[in-house]
Amino acid sequence: MGYDKVYVSNDEEETVSTGKNLSQVIREQMKARGQRFWAGDNISDYMSDAVKEKLIDEATVAFEGVLDALLIDRETDPNSKGTARRLAKMYYNEIMAGRYEPAPDCTAFPNDSADRYEGMLVVRSELRSMCSHHHQPVSGVAYIGIIAANKLIGLSKYTRIAQWCARRGTLQEELCIDIAREIMAATDSKDVGVYIQATHGCCENRGIMAHSSLTQTTVLRGAFKDDASVKKEFMDNIKLQQDFAPR
Ligand SMILES: [Zn+2]
Repeated sequence: MGYDKVYVSNDEEETVSTGKNLSQVIREQMKARGQRFWAGDNISDYMSDAVKEKLIDEATVAFEGVLDALLIDRETDPNSKGTARRLAKMYYNEIMAGRYEPAPDCTAFPNDSADRYEGMLVVRSELRSMCSHHHQPVSGVAYIGIIAANKLIGLSKYTRIAQWCARRGTLQEELCIDIAREIMAATDSKDVGVYIQATHGCCENRGIMAHSSLTQTTVLRGAFKDDASVKKEFMDNIKLQQDFAPR
């Protein structure tokens, strides 16, 4: 928190005086503060619009180097001319946006009246992610189950949280855990289940080239884990959802 001020007052000068890239300055600061910055971590505390613009410039130069190393003519090939910048912007603003943007704003509504909703809620969320190993697309669906506690969030927020977690470099197993944790934090519910099924570009486009492989992961917390009837109701709901809207 408050990093922006640090950057604006000091780091820009440091960037100039030491000849370091801004990304290097920020990495050093994150290390000094013990901030982990793995592909699946959110580092929005270190971002502002101005910082992001500078980092997109730096990433553009770096991607130019990658294209050069791949012996792709980015000077005369019209399709490769703007590719380095397109890649830089795509990483920051789209496929890894969940690393750089703060958590979605989730206004909570009270669920504490005498006739409060006590049933299970299951939300189907379309996901697009990227594997941290190969930077290949991961696409699928998350089913988020919850037994409402004393507050409720808007239905679209479940998907916003899931997509915010997914728009990073992920492993599906970790993504499932991340979504469960963030849904629990946003709702105060300790009873949450997350089931993801997804296809992985790294298995379809390369490696084993398995075009119809599907990976399923399940994370169960609270009653979803401890109460077999709750778990069964969740899985039955997923089947009903899939009958309604197959993947
Ligand atoms: Zn992969």
